Amino acid sequence: SREISGLTKVYGILADPIHHVKTPQMLNALVAREGRDGVMVPFHVSSEELPRLVDGLKAMKSLGGFVVTVPHKTAVVDLLDGVSDSARRIGACNVVRREEDGRLIGDMLDGKGFVGGLKAAGIDPKGRSVYLAGAGGAANAIAFAFVEAGVARLTIANRTRAKAEDLAARLADAVPGAPVEIGTADPSGHDIVANATSLGLKAGDALPLDASRLTADQIVAEVIMQPEETAILAAARAKGCRTHPGKPMLVCQLDLMADFLGMRSLGAAA
Ligand code: NDP
Repeated sequence: SREISGLTKVYGILADPIHHVKTPQMLNALVAREGRDGVMVPFHVSSEELPRLVDGLKAMKSLGGFVVTVPHKTAVVDLLDGVSDSARRIGACNVVRREEDGRLIGDMLDGKGFVGGLKAAGIDPKGRSVYLAGAGGAANAIAFAFVEAGVARLTIANRTRAKAEDLAARLADAVPGAPVEIGTADPSGHDIVANATSLGLKAGDALPLDASRLTADQIVAEVIMQPEETAILAAARAKGCRTHPGKPMLVCQLDLMADFLGMRSLGAAA
């Protein structure tokens, strides 16, 4: 049976609010399935107290690492001892590993999870033309992952155009020659159309792009998991497009997180 003991590795999730998070249930289930000795618990912390908590966690020898979510993904970067190249470029981290010597090392897996979820469904963005709606946290990570995956063209469209321009400039800076442009609400002429805005979470939300311009040869992908079929996915389906929901992004990310946090190489549970 699985019991917490003096040998158990402890993992946390940093968030505020935190009551709604599902990552502990999902990663604890994964750890249990694999018979490993680790547990993830909520670390509820305010933005104001984040630096004090993160500094203290460096001293906690039984800590394996932690997941970071809203609103701490950006602020945590400057509190760590090191971050991956892609996390530094994106300016955000959503997972942090504690090394033996106490150093905290971060990575950002939102974008890799999204692209990995597409690939798992047989959709490889390499060499394809991609339209991305949004320029917020998720869109930033996804845009970098698309460029890293070798898309032939990436068009970014956002309500606040300046944020799309800023993202495009950072992409061009990080990856010289990145095929990035700023778009309008019209997604026509792209192979893959992705929504990375929060539009579609609530019933009655406006559509994130002009669905009347979609054609049956396009794949329409979503970051939102709930509802399972957002209004834009329903509109895309009605147009004959292949659709790709938000869930695979999370499923792929849990896998990447478990690997990054070393959960699969822990000792066996008692
Ligand atoms: P942010 O707040 O950082 O960004 C929100 C984005 O949505 C911005 O581009 C914003 O545009 C746009 N937006 C919001 N409201 C409107 C509106 N009324 N009209 C037009 N555009 C609007 O949020 P995140 O990037 O962190 O999250 C976005 C979504 O991604 C969420 O729904 C979240 O649930 C989902 N997500 C899913 C994950 C998964 O594993 N499936 C993982 C992470 C996130 P503007 O810049 O103009 O404000």
